[in-house]
Amino acid sequence: MPENKDFSITRARVWRGRSASLEALTSPLDVREGRFAETAEAAEAAHAQAAAPIDLSGRVVVPGLIDAHVHLELDPMLRTPTEQLAVPRDERRAAMARRAGQMLAAGITTTRDCGGGSHLEHALRGEIAAGMRPGPRILCCGRPITTPGGHCHFWGGEVADGEEIDAKVAAQIEAGSDWIKVMATGGVFTPGTRARDTQFDEAGLARVVRAAAAGGRSVAAHCHGSEGIAHAVRAGVRTIEHASFAGPDGFGTALDPDLMREMSERELWVSPTVNAGWGRRATDDRGAPTDFFRRLSACLRTQRAHGIRFIASTDAGIPGVAHHDLVAGLKAFAIFADLRPVDVLRAATSESARALGLEHETGRIAPGLSADFLVLRDDPLEDLAALEDPEWVVSRGVWLDRAARRALASGEDVEGWEPGRA
Ligand SMILES: [Zn+2]
Repeated sequence: MPENKDFSITRARVWRGRSASLEALTSPLDVREGRFAETAEAAEAAHAQAAAPIDLSGRVVVPGLIDAHVHLELDPMLRTPTEQLAVPRDERRAAMARRAGQMLAAGITTTRDCGGGSHLEHALRGEIAAGMRPGPRILCCGRPITTPGGHCHFWGGEVADGEEIDAKVAAQIEAGSDWIKVMATGGVFTPGTRARDTQFDEAGLARVVRAAAAGGRSVAAHCHGSEGIAHAVRAGVRTIEHASFAGPDGFGTALDPDLMREMSERELWVSPTVNAGWGRRATDDRGAPTDFFRRLSACLRTQRAHGIRFIASTDAGIPGVAHHDLVAGLKAFAIFADLRPVDVLRAATSESARALGLEHETGRIAPGLSADFLVLRDDPLEDLAALEDPEWVVSRGVWLDRAARRALASGEDVEGWEPGRA
């Protein structure tokens, strides 16, 4: 495989990120300086640089995957915030770098970190972008904005009033955050909060959106309860995280079709964080659908029926959900939401890039975009399992073969990694 970021590939079947089926490459796909060639001149230059086109007969090429909601800072083996906060800073920094490597090894070439307390992911984002470490392109949210004692308050994002909202949002932007995260409802992870309870009224969330927009940022809102979802939608957030329509009887027990219709008419996406854990909870010991499956499946199917746009996400880092395990989440997503593989793949590539504001950077195989793609043996539009073990993962034009992927997946020390030589 090429040592530099100028190459051409031929003879593969390609899924560019939107269509309903694969297409056979009729002319070489040229990459110049890590991007799909935009012009004939760039294509010529890529040809001239490349020794010979890389013959990918029998292989399928798809865009690299995007997980729109992870927490790099969280260790999925730890159960409580207290344990998470007790991890020493140096140890945490090393673990975050390792997790980023594992994500890339699994074909995740872009991710959005939906919050933590240390801002360590901001530095990691820069090191990866500079080619100093292997990992996905990272968008950072920084400290989630929350109410006093509210969901994930221990991360330092508490605000008591409007002025504090402005200051806290500005501080995240100042720290280099790409997005602003707000906790519109309580959550499972924080003792003393309830997922279905709202944390801000509509005006409070609108103030978060305004403060974020003043810095050119969009807002991701953590929302479980239906009332919190409604506040966030009307306040103008861009992504609704979880959207579990939780009511007094639990997740998926307060479905609101009118609100769903309203959501489908706005420029927003639901990021439902369906993950490997959901997959494990879908059926009971006898193989029968669980109550959890019935409620959450109905919730997602009703949203789908109302035309809500989805992006793929996992909430990786929460207990039992590993950072590299997006594909298991995609398979669960297809089952819970009754989606075709192509719909799930769009949610994990082109649609996600659009929602995250990266449509001119990644998420499709298109001229000018970063050369982020997977080389597969089988067609993932037939079966998402084809994504499980890519033959190559290519990130910004750098090829990772199976041996390199295995080394990263095993958590091998990545300090000595050099771009192009993995
Ligand atoms: Zn989360």
